Amino acid sequence: MNILLLGGGGREHALAWKLAQSPRLKTLYAAPGNPGIAQHATLVDLDAKDHRAVVDFCIRHSIGLVVIGPEAPLVDGLADNLRATGTPVFGPGKKAAQLEGSKGFTKDLCKRANIPTAAYERVTSKDGAIAALDDFALPVVIKADGLAAGKGVIIAETREEALAALDTMFSGAFGAAGEEVVLEEYMRGEEASFFALTDGSAILPFGSAQDHKRVGDGDTGPNTGGMGAYSPARVLTAELEQQVMERIIQPTVETLAAEGTPYSGVLYAGLMLTDEGPKLIEYNARFGDPECQVLMMRFDGDLVELLLAAADGRLADQGPVELADRTALTIVMAANGYPGTPEKGGVITGIDAAQAGGARVFHAGTTEKDGAIIATGGRVLNVTATGQSVREAQKAAYKAVDAIGFPTGFCRRDIGWREVAREES
Ligand code: ATP
Repeated sequence: MNILLLGGGGREHALAWKLAQSPRLKTLYAAPGNPGIAQHATLVDLDAKDHRAVVDFCIRHSIGLVVIGPEAPLVDGLADNLRATGTPVFGPGKKAAQLEGSKGFTKDLCKRANIPTAAYERVTSKDGAIAALDDFALPVVIKADGLAAGKGVIIAETREEALAALDTMFSGAFGAAGEEVVLEEYMRGEEASFFALTDGSAILPFGSAQDHKRVGDGDTGPNTGGMGAYSPARVLTAELEQQVMERIIQPTVETLAAEGTPYSGVLYAGLMLTDEGPKLIEYNARFGDPECQVLMMRFDGDLVELLLAAADGRLADQGPVELADRTALTIVMAANGYPGTPEKGGVITGIDAAQAGGARVFHAGTTEKDGAIIATGGRVLNVTATGQSVREAQKAAYKAVDAIGFPTGFCRRDIGWREVAREES
């Protein structure tokens, strides 16, 4: 079967690597891809925003499955346009992708389906928001409703900070994403992510992970897209996972289906493990980046078979997803300056040496020039390894990092610290 993979980050490199292992695959195409993805796929010049071009490409190349990596094309309705012409897609249509595209949509769904989450109010004007502030204790969480690349969430410790945040939100700083704002009760606890595949009816749990959002060691400095992750998140015990399935994932899937907007693809639940049990922080409509990289390192099955079953509504015929018991850990190597203005053009060496011991180096922000791998900025590489313990995975991943030459880049040196401390206490 021919498959088209959309995206060009470390998440898509990990997906390409796994898809390419399936005996069912004939040709894997990817757009825009990156030099790592190019090891497994034919890169094609296609713009995911140009739905007609993507649809035409799929018809001309007999594409049997489209795998959409990032959220923007999902929220933009690409999956609907492909399905309308008979091309199977892994990923939700526009309406169901509102789970990620609109925080207000998700909060309202939680209310209808009685899903545990923070108390909230949706507001569409600054005056309305200021009036609503009185209903919340401090700190209060203020969120732009739409997609804001992880930057649309402000945790205000004081009323002054909250007013300043509302000023920013309603000033147009987030464009259409900030026309509506959600105020939320602040939840306390440890965060973890849980993944589940669904075809709109059947649901298969696909493991857990934890990430490190802050740029600096000890979880300090500004937020980023993620500086590292590991799977499983052992804090999410089997008992808690069952609660997440019963109280959060199942009611979400059932309610969306009952309301005529069934969700198919992967549900990525951001959770707060509170004293009252797991509560939903947010949903994402795609795999996490870099969480996908660690999940794929633990997945030994046929990814084509599984994603196709989700796309075709045949997940009920699949057995449970088997994830290896080993821990996988990924370290993000970023260009100096990230998450501000990252330095571009740095030369990277040593990737083969890094992989010699079994680690895998997923490309994110790289390009190839005259046979050399060059950093294009932001998050550049995801160095990923596995081990029987978190400590072992961490050691193997840092050994691989140290084999890489990237003078204009940096990484955190403590990825996994929380889990290592737990493991060794
Ligand atoms: P991303 O997709 O980058 O994770 P996002 O912009 O979609 O972020 P959220 O995940 O909703 O936004 O929030 C980002 C972070 O803010 C969360 O990971 C969590 O640390 C914190 N946060 C969000 N909502 C709450 C809440 N109600 N209580 C406490 N912390 C919260």
